[in-house]
Amino acid sequence: MILLDGKKTSLDIKQEIAVEVKSRKEKGLKIPHLAAIIVGSDGASMTYVNSKVKSCQQIGFNSTLIELPEETTEEQLLHEIDALNKDKDIDGFIVQLPLPKQIDEQKVLMAVDPDKDVDGFHPVNVGKMTLDLPAFLPATPAGIMELLERYDIETSGKNVVVIGRSHIVGRPMSILLSQKRKVGNATVTLTHSRTKDLASITREADIVVAALGMAEFLTGDMVKEGVTIIDVGITRVPDATKKRGYRLAGDVHFESVSEKASYITPVPGGVGPMTIAMLLTNTLQACQNKD
Ligand code: NAD
Repeated sequence: MILLDGKKTSLDIKQEIAVEVKSRKEKGLKIPHLAAIIVGSDGASMTYVNSKVKSCQQIGFNSTLIELPEETTEEQLLHEIDALNKDKDIDGFIVQLPLPKQIDEQKVLMAVDPDKDVDGFHPVNVGKMTLDLPAFLPATPAGIMELLERYDIETSGKNVVVIGRSHIVGRPMSILLSQKRKVGNATVTLTHSRTKDLASITREADIVVAALGMAEFLTGDMVKEGVTIIDVGITRVPDATKKRGYRLAGDVHFESVSEKASYITPVPGGVGPMTIAMLLTNTLQACQNKD
């Protein structure tokens, strides 16, 4: 069994981007600038957004963090987005999800300028991705594609089962892997909460992408020998032995599944760091698009 080390791979990517940023600086070109808006103080969201900002600093990007209170109205948030859309120094920005319930998430994502939509959530980017046109790819599926490519995992002609059909992970993942591209050409089955007898489907899979958000859902008896496992899930499970009171669990029961897998991503240290690396890649691209 080989661990698909997202932490190490993301460091490699960050290093590559840092070299590019240095070279841009030397040539007098613009330094990429990523902004992030966070509304409220949800613990997990703060952790994600802070590590995005920290990563920017590590690689020489400029970054701006806009922190808004929990009671922010939709109008106020749309106003902030409008300002970022117009700010020439900002190459890309993200609105950290989830948003408080008084704010319509879809309306917010639609308000982001598609040219600055480095999360790849705007319908223009989703549409372009679906048509295989150049677009900002959503960071988590893009990170998985990058990991598969860098570990030289064959996807062409393989049976891939994606568990979960969310707009940010499962569905784009299923689209990308089915496309005619370097990491792609797979026969993809997209499964979800209404799928019947999931285990009989996952047992046929050469590659399983688990993105449903249920701790340790996929167990060893649900997969075949030699399978490649991509575990997207991140769930906080109460754990009194930890100082912070919880541990992070993936959607895969690592102990039983790793016995059969040929490749598997750990949680943490698998897909999570890759997601950030691809957000940075998209931001560099957004900046280069303006050269
Ligand atoms: P979501 O909650 O939006 O969607 C979950 C999907 O799982 C739904 O489509 C649902 O139909 C499906 N599902 C639920 N129960 C099921 C079952 N019993 N069998 C089959 N399918 C079932 O989730 P999401 O936003 O895609 O996130 C999924 C997980 O991935 C979460 O744990 C989230 O925290 C994590 N995540 C991680 C990263 C990362 O960077 N590593 C990024 C995004 C999301």
